[in-house]
Amino acid sequence: KFEQSRLLDGLPKQFFANLVAKVNKKVDEGVDVINLGQGNPDKPTPDYIVKSTQKWVADPQTHKYSLFRGLPAFKQAAADFYHKKYGAQFDPEKEVAILGGSKIGLVELPWALMNPGDTYLLPDPGYPDYLSGAALGKVNFVTVPLLAENNFLPDLDAIPEETAKKAKFFYLNYPNNPTGAVATPEFYEKLVSWAKKYQVGIISDFAYGAIGFDGKAPVSFMQTPGAKDVGIEFYTFSKTFNMAGWRIAFAVGNQDIIEALNLIQDHLFVSLFPALQRAAIDALTAPQRDSAVATIVGRYEERRNAFVEAAEKIGWHAFIPRGTFYAWMPVPAGYTSEQFADVLLNKAGVAVAPGNGFGTHGEGYVRIGLLIEPERLVEAVNRIGKLHLFD
Ligand code: PLP
Repeated sequence: KFEQSRLLDGLPKQFFANLVAKVNKKVDEGVDVINLGQGNPDKPTPDYIVKSTQKWVADPQTHKYSLFRGLPAFKQAAADFYHKKYGAQFDPEKEVAILGGSKIGLVELPWALMNPGDTYLLPDPGYPDYLSGAALGKVNFVTVPLLAENNFLPDLDAIPEETAKKAKFFYLNYPNNPTGAVATPEFYEKLVSWAKKYQVGIISDFAYGAIGFDGKAPVSFMQTPGAKDVGIEFYTFSKTFNMAGWRIAFAVGNQDIIEALNLIQDHLFVSLFPALQRAAIDALTAPQRDSAVATIVGRYEERRNAFVEAAEKIGWHAFIPRGTFYAWMPVPAGYTSEQFADVLLNKAGVAVAPGNGFGTHGEGYVRIGLLIEPERLVEAVNRIGKLHLFD
């Protein structure tokens, strides 16, 4: 019998495991479940990226260990991409880190840059994996509410002075999982001043950075003057290019933060598969990029429109998602988010993620993944409509 190290104490249980088990049970019972619970891209990776990977896999160079901190050409491509798209300049060697998916960086960060007992700030509701870094780094976190009345942006003026003073970092994620909210340049400008005033590092998780609707490209934190002085941004290929299974991402920004991430990675990984890094360069730079991404984003927007319209028809009023592939929907009076999710699964065969899994302020909501075809989304809403919960 082997015991787990005390260093693993406090690691939260994977939140989605419970939901997956419930859905599988229903499917085994023969129910035609419409699963809106998870956040997995449902369409294949664009063909130009697959073809480029096939080419690079055949390259004789891939048999060797590659450079620990990633191919210089990939770091250069990441820096060029940010320069062209967001007007932000980064030194590819000092201000870019290559990662096997952004989750690893988000989780490593407290471990790499904080001391036991330090505190960081997390959004509530927020991506559950932000909590894992606290357990691994033996650090504390304080949650900052994201409220509908502030368009799910944190109210910086409402963060108590003593909390701001003791915080080392603040994680933010726009376009936002789970609410579908987006940030504004004005918010980020205020955030940079706030971060400078209280000496708090900003960790911008730009996982849905390409997925903005209504003709508006999402704002990058790195577009903000002074952003590099106070923080970094994670950019993943998972959602933008339907590459969640490929595990590739990068971070750009403040040199001290990037160095700490690189140092910890030097000891955990021996670089990423070079063919994958080369394919990632092609994903970012090929002439097909913009049209491939536009197709992916357009599909989510079409689904968003179909879902919101159907939901309005049954009296289920949405906070309109402006990006991501989620809708954050209110729970009718008399139910907790878990009870409501159970009713939808048991009585309508529709699986949704209960909001309480994203934090205390997620109570009162469920998250809908717009990851199936519009007709099926509408069918899910119509099944829910038959329960007459919103009449
Ligand atoms: N950040 C957010 C907000 C996410 O929703 C996800 C994935 O669902 C990730 C990060 C993880 O992305 P990656 O695949 O790059 O690890």
